[in-house]
Amino acid sequence: MNAFDLTGRVAIVTGGNGGIGLGMAKGLAGAGATVVVAARNREKSLSAVAELEGIGATAGFIALDVADPAACRDAVNEAARRFGRLDILVNNAGMSIRKPPETYTVEEWRQVVETNLTGAFVLCQAAHPLMARQRAGKIINIGSMMSIFGGAYAAPYSSSKGAIVQMTKSLATAWAKDNIQVNAVLPGWIDTELTQDARRQVPGLNERVLARTPAGRWGVPDDLAGIAVFLASPASDFVTGAAIPVDGGYASEF
Ligand code: NDP
Repeated sequence: MNAFDLTGRVAIVTGGNGGIGLGMAKGLAGAGATVVVAARNREKSLSAVAELEGIGATAGFIALDVADPAACRDAVNEAARRFGRLDILVNNAGMSIRKPPETYTVEEWRQVVETNLTGAFVLCQAAHPLMARQRAGKIINIGSMMSIFGGAYAAPYSSSKGAIVQMTKSLATAWAKDNIQVNAVLPGWIDTELTQDARRQVPGLNERVLARTPAGRWGVPDDLAGIAVFLASPASDFVTGAAIPVDGGYASEF
């Protein structure tokens, strides 16, 4: 038996149409899973679906704004209806608004927290009855180095990402009885649209990342494929409530 085999499993990856989400989606697809890309941008999502099909996987697109709780519930049920089951939920969709803390409006705070945290929670809630019924499930929540460290220009983002880890531990504790494993992944600095924006907005960021990351480089989305397969597969059946950095050593160096 291959402990990393995902043949016959169905996964939802929120924000799976680009960046880290697509890197993880490609890993899951390569291990045999059917992958549902759930995101807002249709064109980008259909292109991701074509890329996943190109590596031999079954894949589909469900339009979803994770900040809309009703849409989150509908997306989970639609994925299960279309593909027959749901085994893996990857809560990857995320965004940031960068500015000094004293300048956020409540609306901006809510937008970040509702996208990064509340959406993930509602999706977990919606997936729980399906996974509990089959007595197996894997939930992977995407945190950040800002689950550990603060950021002067990222108060709501770091708040949401810190909370993702505590939510992960709470759900892992509650749902171990249902044989559902819930873990978090904390990426370091990964080269994606999100961080290309950050590089434009924060002078010197590129140089600081290179100097501060022991591996001496930015991560790429494919660097997240292996951890996704591990946490989605039987290989991790006794791993739950963990928050695993994938950061080229960033969080380990003083
Ligand atoms: P990208 O901006 O490249 O991708 C973000 C994805 O999230 C897009 O696919 C976007 O799709 C989707 N998304 C954003 N808002 C929503 C929404 N409201 N509803 C549904 N989907 C949404 O970013 P990354 O790949 O870099 O980030 C992915 C995750 O990794 C995020 O949670 C981020 O916080 C986290 N992360 C990233 C790091 C990095 O260095 N890049 C470091 C640490 C954590 P669409 O616009 O089509 O909806």
